[in-house]
Amino acid sequence: MMRFAVPLLAALLFLTNAARADDWATVQTPAPGPTQSIGFYTAGCLQGAQALPLEGPGYEAIRVSRNRYWGQPVTIDFIKTLAEKMRAAGQAHLYIGDIGQPRGGPAPSGHASHQIGLDADIWFERQPGARRSPADRENPRLRSLVKADDSGIDDAVFNEQHVLLLRTAAQMPNLDRIFVNKWIKQRLCQTTGGDRSWLRKLVPWYGHDSHFHIRLYCPPGNPQCQPQADYAHDDGCGEALESWFRKAPLVPPTTPPKPYRPKLPAACTAVLNAR
Ligand SMILES: [Zn+2]
Repeated sequence: MMRFAVPLLAALLFLTNAARADDWATVQTPAPGPTQSIGFYTAGCLQGAQALPLEGPGYEAIRVSRNRYWGQPVTIDFIKTLAEKMRAAGQAHLYIGDIGQPRGGPAPSGHASHQIGLDADIWFERQPGARRSPADRENPRLRSLVKADDSGIDDAVFNEQHVLLLRTAAQMPNLDRIFVNKWIKQRLCQTTGGDRSWLRKLVPWYGHDSHFHIRLYCPPGNPQCQPQADYAHDDGCGEALESWFRKAPLVPPTTPPKPYRPKLPAACTAVLNAR
């Protein structure tokens, strides 16, 4: 009996420790195997992640030292296609921010989602001209489209290029929703003529004033990927938007928030530990 007790105890300790967010951030490489999103956008992991090439036609990745440029192939393709479309429209290249960690999972800082390779942050900021050097990409200027006192859109920054960028992304296949600041959604609700159906895909959320966040549907062939609930099928410019203007502002916590430690699907333990 004793012969087995020590290895068993070691194995149990290993499993218990496996779900800490720090561990997900420490793993530098994707888990081998076919690509699978496992779990939910805010509590899951990703097997067989693909890396976004750090620059390509129409875009460059920023803050790459975070090592969060990994995602589902469908997400990588979405970013590349959106960048190509913006380039074809004559816009400066996009700054691509966080997608996910090499094996997805919770990140020790930043956000609760981005865990299954189907979320990505794209910045509104663009700089025309030459690409930035890799060192410059760690800390670029990233202006908000919203005034600092949260009183409305900053028209010194916001322009029609942002409208085309959001509309193009919202009309692409595989897109579930885009999170944007309430002021941005309101501006688009007030100014969009003609086809307004794409406005539905823009869902207000806190922040998201200097970047927007694309969320893709669970791709076919990912049975462990948990879809997010559907939302209203109108343009979302009525009560769904107005309610955001009645919310109390977020108060920054006075003590550091506890690390976000969601309960992950059991299959994620194997993803974290796979060699
Ligand atoms: Zn995000």
